[in-house]
Amino acid sequence: MYKISSQVIDFVLFYKHLEIIEKNKQNKFPLIKLKPIGKSSCGFPIEHFKVGDGPLHIVYMGGTHGNEIISVDFILQLMNNLALGNGVFKNFNPDLFTVDFIPCQNPEGYFTTTYALKSVMKDMNQKEILHFCKQYYLNYRNRNVKINNLNQIICTCCQKYDFSTQEKNIITSFWKNFYNKKFSSKELIQFLTETLFVEENQIKNDIKYLWEENIQETYIDNTKIVYLEPFNNINLDCIPLIDNNHIELRNALEKLYQNNKFPFCTLANFIANASGVNLNDNNEFYFQELNKRIEKEKIVYSSPIYPLPKSCISPFGTTSIDFTKFIHAPENVAILKFFKDMENSCYAFFNCHGTGGQLYVEPFYDINDKSNFRDFSFYINNRIATEYLKEIEKTYIEKTGIKSSYEKMGYPNKITGMADLLRSKYIGHFLLELSKAGGNPLGPYIMPNYHLTMEANFRACQKIMDTILELEHLYDKTYQVKYNNNGKVNYYAQTRTRK
Ligand SMILES: [Zn+2]
Repeated sequence: MYKISSQVIDFVLFYKHLEIIEKNKQNKFPLIKLKPIGKSSCGFPIEHFKVGDGPLHIVYMGGTHGNEIISVDFILQLMNNLALGNGVFKNFNPDLFTVDFIPCQNPEGYFTTTYALKSVMKDMNQKEILHFCKQYYLNYRNRNVKINNLNQIICTCCQKYDFSTQEKNIITSFWKNFYNKKFSSKELIQFLTETLFVEENQIKNDIKYLWEENIQETYIDNTKIVYLEPFNNINLDCIPLIDNNHIELRNALEKLYQNNKFPFCTLANFIANASGVNLNDNNEFYFQELNKRIEKEKIVYSSPIYPLPKSCISPFGTTSIDFTKFIHAPENVAILKFFKDMENSCYAFFNCHGTGGQLYVEPFYDINDKSNFRDFSFYINNRIATEYLKEIEKTYIEKTGIKSSYEKMGYPNKITGMADLLRSKYIGHFLLELSKAGGNPLGPYIMPNYHLTMEANFRACQKIMDTILELEHLYDKTYQVKYNNNGKVNYYAQTRTRK
């Protein structure tokens, strides 16, 4: 029913695939290449395509985080299958809908990651690639299981000794202490004795059983991250100097990695753009938050167990290229302008990311704004999100028999990322964590999860078009509340401009 082929798509393949899809004579609905929406610092265009020519726009974007390669891959496969009118897309109505595609918002991070992956995987056949991805995923998962089990032990002790309110901080402090170290139950006992102010023998008794039950090995070796080991020998030579943009990219990366500041294996897991800015963290709110944390903690890590700092420009990325003044990265300037120019024609935007199987739904809103309007944007957001997730779930259940739900996530209180910022400005903006398998970049390529991710999200895409039609009468409306003489409420519909 669908044309799906799993591949790691580097620069050359990216443009080859786009051209093949664009020129395919079998297309039922033509794919049109439009002017790029902007450029990265190194000069890579941020490409823009569309299928259909209707007034209702749906936008799919991938590749905000360079290492989440499944998102770019997904956009390409969605473009192809929609253009061909495959499966659920056979009744696509191009006079009503336009589906806009921005396949890769962060070409620098995406091409860096895929070049690095390709340099290690270049001689593998399809079977070996699948095996390699599976091994990567398993190693990633094993590490995560172990970390979770250890965190669980710490939590159990915190609860027992009345430190449960500080659990999170204690866990963070533990991993900060044992980053890049090998440790056994002995070190854990010592840490907890000092942190929880309890007799050593008492903790010893607690840990003995918990460690045996949950860890099962004498040591946890945190000096190496097994799933990254296949990439330990790569270096900047994996970026070919095929044009000016590539030369710029290589120069930018050389600057970022100079003095061996970061291990080269991070090239294969490159989240930021080449200037070291994380495009989702690149917003004013988060910039201020992070600066406050830097003042207190000096170095802020992306997570206590992941050694990459977000308090400086790095492969993980930080909030702004300049720490004294907030600056939007050119990739975000492009996307902000894109939505501004679209005015009110965008009905749903899916900002596709890599792993987690989640949809971030709720817009940030000002709880103190008690305006006299009944605004339907919450309803619209929730309805679209619910229908999207229901459709994904249906596919999973049909194919696997297992009810394996995607999660709906809200962020009603504060803005932490660029995606939240967009949700605060526009109706129907979502951050979609595509794959249920963890472990970017390669984890999502395990079978059958890869095919399920594609198919389920295709179906959900079509479902959203149906939902938008059902909700269309609500989109441009807001209701003013008026009370009549008997104190009964009446809503008076008003047309409004979506902003
Ligand atoms: Zn992401």
